[in-house]
Amino acid sequence: MANVYNWQLGRDMFYPYEAPRPRRQFAAVFDTNKCIACQTCTIACKNAWTSGHGQEYMFWNNVETKPWGFYPLGWDVRLLERLGVQEWEGDVYRGKTIFEAAPPGEVALGIMPEREDWSYPNIGEDEVSAPVQQGQYIRLPHQPWMFYLQRICNHCTYPACLAGCPRKAIYKRPEDGIVLVDQIRCRGYQECIRACPYKKVMFNEALGKTQKCIGCYPKVEQGLQPECVVTCIGKIRLMGFVSTPDRAREDNPIDYLVHVRKVALPLYPQFGTEPNVYYIPPVNVPTSFTTMLFGPRAEEAVKTYLKAAREGDQTLIGLLMLFGSTPFIIHRFKVKDGFAYGYNERGVELVKVPIKEPVHVRPFYDERHQVYRFSVT
Ligand code: SF4
Ligand code: SF4
Repeated sequence: MANVYNWQLGRDMFYPYEAPRPRRQFAAVFDTNKCIACQTCTIACKNAWTSGHGQEYMFWNNVETKPWGFYPLGWDVRLLERLGVQEWEGDVYRGKTIFEAAPPGEVALGIMPEREDWSYPNIGEDEVSAPVQQGQYIRLPHQPWMFYLQRICNHCTYPACLAGCPRKAIYKRPEDGIVLVDQIRCRGYQECIRACPYKKVMFNEALGKTQKCIGCYPKVEQGLQPECVVTCIGKIRLMGFVSTPDRAREDNPIDYLVHVRKVALPLYPQFGTEPNVYYIPPVNVPTSFTTMLFGPRAEEAVKTYLKAAREGDQTLIGLLMLFGSTPFIIHRFKVKDGFAYGYNERGVELVKVPIKEPVHVRPFYDERHQVYRFSVT
């Protein structure tokens, strides 16, 4: 066992290996408030990567409705129950991680889904937390509530799947932190499936191997954002690279959201894998629930997000406008004079987006064509 520092927990923790951080770390930010659960991301990923034999049931990207959606069934609640009390003291996690709570002889506290648990990717879709009573009206947070949770592999800094594999068939790439299963070494023992707390490794019965989200690494290698990001209808996603807090750069879009403004938070940081997909929490959900999912900063993140909209915070709003604006990875950004700019690694401008979209009002009567216009939208 090695002692490693997990900045999301604010403390050292046990991890089964010495785990040097990659030269840079794949990361993404998802704004839960903008998702419409159209599942375009899910299908884009499926078409790209999981259309083969043995992959029929696989969704490396899925979008589930919380609180009743799960893929696979009960993936998080079953583990949370076994993990016991998850206490925070300020920003420091005092409970146990899945590595610290591992039963004797195992590297991580895990659960193994049954085959059938993967059969209901749409369960709970659009269901609210409680029945809507007559006469109820909408306030923030909502009394009955729900929100969409978009899930891919987190390409964790301390991957439980990697730790769990007795064949050492899983590796984390030093150049970008993407976590992959070596399809030649894998013998299908499925210990990675048991260990991954997010249940983002899946078994291919036709091949007898486990498979998982590959972070669209062939695209990332060419400076492009993954399929689920560029196809997103709601423009809720941004992929880039995250630094550790001590190396955070204000002009790195992911660092700005995660470290500088702290509006984007990891999912279930208490598991201890240091996941690298970050979420802007939903504004309509009670704090007790968002704190359980995103840690003790959830309430503050929602306040910052709402305040930015209320007060017209140009930098934060400008950066959010860059989500879904270009297929290329934005390494640096700038907001100036009503426009947000995204740049690649060499500083070349990739995209320029107005913070406020111009509105064109067309006259009711078109003189040139001598026709009346009807408002149909
Ligand atoms: S989310 Fe699961 S599969 Fe992905 S790196 Fe983390 S532990 Fe491994
Ligand atoms: S494509 Fe975007 S808006 Fe549609 S479900 Fe996926 S994350 Fe949500």
